[in-house]
Amino acid sequence: MTAPDSRPEASDALSVLNRVFGYKSFRPAQQEIIDHVVAGHDALVLMPTGGGKSLCYQIPALVREGVGVVVSPLIALMQDQVHALTALGVRAGFLNSTQDVDERRAVESAFLAGELDLLYLAPERLRVDSTLRLLDRGTISLFAIDEAHCVAQWGHDFRPDYLALSMLHERWPEVPRIALTATATEATRAEIATRLNLREARHFVTGFDRPNIQYRIVPKDEPRRQLLKLLRTEHTGDAGIVYCLSRASVEKIAAFLVENGIEALPYHAGLDPRVRAANQARFLREDGIVMVATIAFGMGVDKPDVRFVAHLDLPRSVEGYYQETGRAGRDGLPSTAWLAYGLQDVVQQRKMIDTSEGDEAHRRRLRAHLDAMLALCETVECRRVRLLDYFGQQGAPCGNCDTCLSPPEAWDGTIAAQKLLSTVVRLQRERGQKFGAGQIVDILLGRKTPKVTQFRHDELSVFGVGTDLSEAEWRGVVRQLLAQGLLGVEGDYGTLVLTEESRGVLSRAREVRLRREPKRAERAAKAPKAAAAAADLPEEAVPVFERLRAWRAAKAKEQGVPAYVIFHDATLREIATLSPTSLADLGKVSGVGENKLAKYGEEILQTLTG
Ligand code: ADP
Ligand code: ZN
Repeated sequence: MTAPDSRPEASDALSVLNRVFGYKSFRPAQQEIIDHVVAGHDALVLMPTGGGKSLCYQIPALVREGVGVVVSPLIALMQDQVHALTALGVRAGFLNSTQDVDERRAVESAFLAGELDLLYLAPERLRVDSTLRLLDRGTISLFAIDEAHCVAQWGHDFRPDYLALSMLHERWPEVPRIALTATATEATRAEIATRLNLREARHFVTGFDRPNIQYRIVPKDEPRRQLLKLLRTEHTGDAGIVYCLSRASVEKIAAFLVENGIEALPYHAGLDPRVRAANQARFLREDGIVMVATIAFGMGVDKPDVRFVAHLDLPRSVEGYYQETGRAGRDGLPSTAWLAYGLQDVVQQRKMIDTSEGDEAHRRRLRAHLDAMLALCETVECRRVRLLDYFGQQGAPCGNCDTCLSPPEAWDGTIAAQKLLSTVVRLQRERGQKFGAGQIVDILLGRKTPKVTQFRHDELSVFGVGTDLSEAEWRGVVRQLLAQGLLGVEGDYGTLVLTEESRGVLSRAREVRLRREPKRAERAAKAPKAAAAAADLPEEAVPVFERLRAWRAAKAKEQGVPAYVIFHDATLREIATLSPTSLADLGKVSGVGENKLAKYGEEILQTLTG
């Protein structure tokens, strides 16, 4: 708490931003949030990934008297967070289960001696009485609860230890609390406020748009070839994340990329914890690593220069998809979110929901999540408009997503839908049979495959009535009817069945609008480019930028920290472009604060002239 005679001024916050972080100005929401917390009030902050949440508690912790206590579930990343702060000259430490007794003691005495600005804690630490007594003996400037959506019980990041955090307010009623998350729906927000006892807190909800991310969703054809093409033509040498649904496919895709000369590593919950940690550390520390992972990977990984996030399987919800893709481009430079999805994804996910544990209400929720995701995939509108709409925000067509860049055509699929549905009906009524999409499409195309002949499906009146469309187009029709709920799927083999809604189509009472399948060769949205980080730099700045990168890599290696802890790409780009000749000019570059200027200034000026 702050004594009345040392009441901090709002301008203190700005001077900390300039001096310590080397940034010129606050983003609009940051200013308000920081003033609010500096004044001692509670806040609930919803900002997209990369929006700049960290400063919202780091600066108040520096301005207010005492130590800012940050609760974070990401033990593996605390070390890096502390390194990054130390590099800025901020006094930070952490307490978690990875430390030995001596290390812990050292941090505890620094805390008690008032020698820390920020202390990171794993949530389970706060269940230990000795931790609570320790905190009682020091001065706490604020509590920051990072990844606050971990308190939401239906979310996929739920951490039981977060539920106990409601006691912070009871034990330290005077200390302001700030809860932060990138998960944005109304329901999650309400749950956070209730469970963390933050009813009085002011809510700060910023725009959720991430304009530098290009969203693209393509029909899955040969996923590996498609992925390889994306990496080779648009993201050579870039760091990125490839998400897969299962551990087995993570392993396979990682091996496939390595075979094709791409530095890829696997990450999933089934790996030995040491291997997992080592892979994560390499992804963070080295340039240009591709992480192939299940969704177990990524929360809190604040590597700023992830240039692409690719999904090879359909995410289960728009929320999850937005969080995962949000890990691209935190530094504000152009990045790609790419998803390949196909008929099989729909079949598989519907099946997973039908057989999932939990009650019917839970399954209904899962279905609603999936339906929203499918609607996003099949939309003929701007992806970004749909995404923002999902989070209750408005946007205009963005010009930076696949549907804006090459608008898909909508077509009247009513007759195609009727042909397909009546094939399903015939098989069931006349033969008492159910089949999957493959057989139905073969029948429509009039193909005399062994299986068609075996079941005498060539004798059905619908045999060969669909030769006006290609196989890919028919699969697209099946997928879209499933997505719209006009067709159902059941059982282990993904057999197709009618739904309540199908009737309306068969009786011609409703029209079916479909999205035309893009031609097989998916159009590259951007021209091939070299290393993305150097793209769009003035020609003469490119070799300078590369020299700076090499200098940074050496420094990072020497100190055992990720390269971005030294400087972000965006900062190096600005230095390379402006080519400052004095320390004073170098200090004006965004991202060069006092500490880094003193430490690296001379070396950088030498690198520039060298
Ligand atoms: P979040 O935690 O919301 O995902 P971060 O706190 O990691 O986002 O910030 C994202 C990036 O934006 C970081 O590289 C950070 O240094 C930068 N940043 C944050 N605030 C500012 C600012 N006011 N001016 C310039 N850069 C900023
Ligand atoms: Zn768009």
